[in-house]
Amino acid sequence: MRPFIFTKPATADQALIKKTNQAQFIAGGTNLLDLMKKHIALPEELLDVTNALPAAITANTKGIRIDAMVRNSAIASQAEVLSQFPLLAKAVLAGASPQIRNMASTAGNLLQRTRCPYFYDTTVPCNKRIPGTGCSAMDGDNRMSAIVGYSNQCVAVHPSDMCIALAALEANVLVTGRDKKQHSIPFKDFHRLPGTTPQLDNNLPANAVITAVEIPGNRFQKNFAYVKVRDRDSYAFALISVAAALHMEAGVISEARLASGGVAHKPWRWYKAEQFLKGKKPSAENFRQAASIAVGETKPLANNKFKTVMLQGAIETALQNCLTA
Ligand SMILES: Cc1cc2nc3c(=O)[nH]c(=O)nc-3n(C[C@H](O)[C@H](O)[C@H](O)COP(=O)(O)OP(=O)(O)OC[C@H]3O[C@@H](n4cnc5c(N)ncnc54)[C@H](O)[C@@H]3O)c2cc1C
Ligand code: SF4
Repeated sequence: MRPFIFTKPATADQALIKKTNQAQFIAGGTNLLDLMKKHIALPEELLDVTNALPAAITANTKGIRIDAMVRNSAIASQAEVLSQFPLLAKAVLAGASPQIRNMASTAGNLLQRTRCPYFYDTTVPCNKRIPGTGCSAMDGDNRMSAIVGYSNQCVAVHPSDMCIALAALEANVLVTGRDKKQHSIPFKDFHRLPGTTPQLDNNLPANAVITAVEIPGNRFQKNFAYVKVRDRDSYAFALISVAAALHMEAGVISEARLASGGVAHKPWRWYKAEQFLKGKKPSAENFRQAASIAVGETKPLANNKFKTVMLQGAIETALQNCLTA
């Protein structure tokens, strides 16, 4: 690893003053340290934000605020999250391992980088690591890659579980820039598609800090599910994941949310399938049709056609599981 300066600012203001393109925030370190060991991230200075940023979960009449430094394990066991936002707790628990969840922060989870194997292999071309060098996954091993929303420059997928629930629950990301102004970014606009700038994963303004995530109140306490299909049961990222939430009135679906991980460069919402479900009865046939609508949006690559079959099953299962949550 390259030598670097390590500082621990006491406040968010101090952290922001020191933030430059060469200085990087570090929270739990579970992703950044791996990137540094592999010479993919090369910061000259690390700004440890564990003391500088708040770590509380606060419920109010509008919803819930989860501060940037709340660890993933705390989210999954907090009473208000479990009672009002159980889909979030379920998705968080599907990620990583207990030890990693004890370290992983809310902000760090949002900003974790893709697990595309070529991104981590510095001997091969990768547009995300070094723009303009090419995409090794496009014609290489793209079994884990995207099936929707990709470009000819990058077919990587977003790796987080927590973010799939946050997408379905229409969270907002609170960020503060060096001008000390606070902005709220809707979750759907936070992560990016690769387009012609695959080196950019998200729309966090340069040198800004994430201070919290806010989730508006919702009616998904009863009918929700998170389904994650992966190569092994622990320590594995999603091949396909589905966050599903339904609200039912008089025996029909009045509101539906469906989001997936493992399919695109950002957490992906299946808006057309959600629209289809609205006003329908919660039946196996309607769930099958909703899943087919989602699958119809996909365009798999040479090695990941299996993901479309998996997606069909995962969406049907998640919707079915919503009825027994
Ligand atoms: C073996 C293994 C298995 C895993 N499996 C899963 C899984 O199945 N599902 C899943 O979702 N995740 C998984 N993860 C990823 C893990 O959840 C993330 O590494 C973790 O959430 C990152 O949080 P962190 O606090 O450690 O971030 P760090 O590594 O500290 O930071 C990550 C990035 O966020 C930036 N950052 C941190 N805080 C802030 C802030 N407040 N404002 C602005 N920038 C900030 C850092 O500069 C860095 O760029 C796994 C990780 C490992 C190592
Ligand atoms: S898919 Fe993206 S991250 Fe993977 S090799 Fe191609 S450019 Fe790099």
